[in-house]
Amino acid sequence: MNNSYAVYNGKFSSLQDIKISPLSRAYTFSDSVYEVIPFCKSKIIAFDSHISRLKKSCKAIHISTDIQKVSKEVLELINNCGHDSGYVYFQISRGIDPIRSHMFEDNIEAETFGYVNEFFFRPQNLKVMICDDLRWQRCDIKSTSLLGNIISMNSAKSEGCDEVIMHKNNILTEGGASNIFFSDDECIYTPELSKNILPGITRDILLQELSKLGIGFKEGVYKINDLKCAKSAWLTSSTKGVAEITEIINLDTNLTKDHFLFKKCSEIMSDIYFS
Ligand code: PMP
Repeated sequence: MNNSYAVYNGKFSSLQDIKISPLSRAYTFSDSVYEVIPFCKSKIIAFDSHISRLKKSCKAIHISTDIQKVSKEVLELINNCGHDSGYVYFQISRGIDPIRSHMFEDNIEAETFGYVNEFFFRPQNLKVMICDDLRWQRCDIKSTSLLGNIISMNSAKSEGCDEVIMHKNNILTEGGASNIFFSDDECIYTPELSKNILPGITRDILLQELSKLGIGFKEGVYKINDLKCAKSAWLTSSTKGVAEITEIINLDTNLTKDHFLFKKCSEIMSDIYFS
């Protein structure tokens, strides 16, 4: 069993020492939200953005929590875990009910859980599969209810893929655990934010840096056919960084490996993580 440094309801211990109630709503209903906060060479990446998204996720499902306390716990996990690269997984559930019931008790107290995992950030090449987006209509909330993603990502895994590109009625949404970018020779494209996609922190960092550098990008509504014509495509996330798509198994594409626009984005993100 993993003995990572962890915290449960404010109490620090090792992951294997935490005992949770089976009536936790995280367990019975996935009535919980989460964050993954990366740190690389002892530098925390976009800490404030992750905390602010966690606060927004809690607000969206009406969980009240002390976000200052959560921030301190995340910092404690990172600062005292003994690793210089990794990520913190932090989850906030609505709490523990006296009985399992869809309608929760009014006075229920939020339940918090976090642990830190050592992780080395490395460039990745991805083989992906396009699939139907099976998920609910509030994918902008970082909920732990991820069954749609899990079903799709595991059918991709059985085809030898590392990730999926999801679409709703032909409109591209996002990856199973990442945001989608693609480019031609002039411009970078990414699906615009909506309730169908998670506002990725890595996506946001990349767009801000592209703006600063005057590199052209567009956020919009894109179709599978747009991807078919792309010269380059990549996925972004806190643990993947900027990861190039080298093959889409169920789409004829013309992707050029190491396209200059992908390389530029990859350099931008390397600088953020490693400098
Ligand atoms: N979309 C989904 C569905 C995800 O699970 C993730 C990873 N948490 C992302 C996008 C990328 O978000 P971020 O860049 O904040 O890690």
